Amino acid sequence: MSINDLSRYSRQIRFSALGEVGQRKLLASKVLVCGCGALGTHLAEQLARAGVGKMKLIDRDFVDWSNLQRQVLFTEQDVQECLPKAIAAQRHLQGINSEVSVEAEVLDLDSGNIENYLNGIDLILDGTDNFETRYLINDVSIKYKIPWVFGGCLGAEGQMMPILPKKSACLRCLFPEPPAAGDTPTCDSAGILASIIGVVASMQVLEAIKILSGNLEVVNPYLTMIDLWGNRTQQLRCPRRSGELEHQTACPTCGPEAEFPWLEGKKSARSQVLCGRNSVQISPPEGKGFDLDQLAAQLSSLGSVQRNPFLLRFQAEKWQLTIFPDGRTIIKGTEDLSEAKSVFTRFVGL
Ligand SMILES: [Zn+2]
Repeated sequence: MSINDLSRYSRQIRFSALGEVGQRKLLASKVLVCGCGALGTHLAEQLARAGVGKMKLIDRDFVDWSNLQRQVLFTEQDVQECLPKAIAAQRHLQGINSEVSVEAEVLDLDSGNIENYLNGIDLILDGTDNFETRYLINDVSIKYKIPWVFGGCLGAEGQMMPILPKKSACLRCLFPEPPAAGDTPTCDSAGILASIIGVVASMQVLEAIKILSGNLEVVNPYLTMIDLWGNRTQQLRCPRRSGELEHQTACPTCGPEAEFPWLEGKKSARSQVLCGRNSVQISPPEGKGFDLDQLAAQLSSLGSVQRNPFLLRFQAEKWQLTIFPDGRTIIKGTEDLSEAKSVFTRFVGL
């Protein structure tokens, strides 16, 4: 099949607001998918089927049995082969649509490397599982004027919002600071149902298709919040805090100050290998204190928890986490920084 043969997209082209012109714009687009877990695999599969011409997948993790419940694209064989998620996803996507180009990067996206992956990118999709990376994506989105679509899921609830740099509210217009580490439950503590991921990812991809095909007038201007278990849908209109209104506090990032603290590495968690101890230390940004009692309650069903006035110790699978009240955490059981960050995100959240 050639690029001129659009027959595989015929049902999509028949949708008149998109049409052949819109389809050709999708084929000429390049999307960066950050994270290749539950949301990321749904996002990437829909992009490939819709004929978004190029995508780059970035993920730091490998496929595990517990992923198969909700992470479409992955199979039991991927787990047996210990494949990195980005690589496994790339292989399956090529079988779904060989006409689209899929690049895979196995790495921990951070302030030091994200700018290497923006070349030619028209839009960024959020398939991450942590706020630190979302605020980093928000910084690059505003700085380089690349739209992105935020998405997040937990339990049976999800949130989604498209961000058009300097046109609509950015993540910091809405939440100037991320939630404190340890304050938000994680997928491991609260669980997650696959259905909400399909819903949120589908909404993210549709907003992406609107933006990439040039249909900006129909982009959803709301933060959409859905609770599939409680049968509630809410839309929160969030105006951009451009700083032009007298009574309005300007957004530190998309307002006149134009601060990019996550991109400059000022807000990111610091991590280091503790030599000879089979341990990694993670130091969250300053001022991010933890409520260790709350965290102990959250973790108690996932492993053994010990608490004394000075620290919390948590043992699960092969890892032992020692967490101090200032958030500093020593993860024993690995000397791999990416693995330690994954474990930290999984159990402590950030
Ligand atoms: Zn803003």
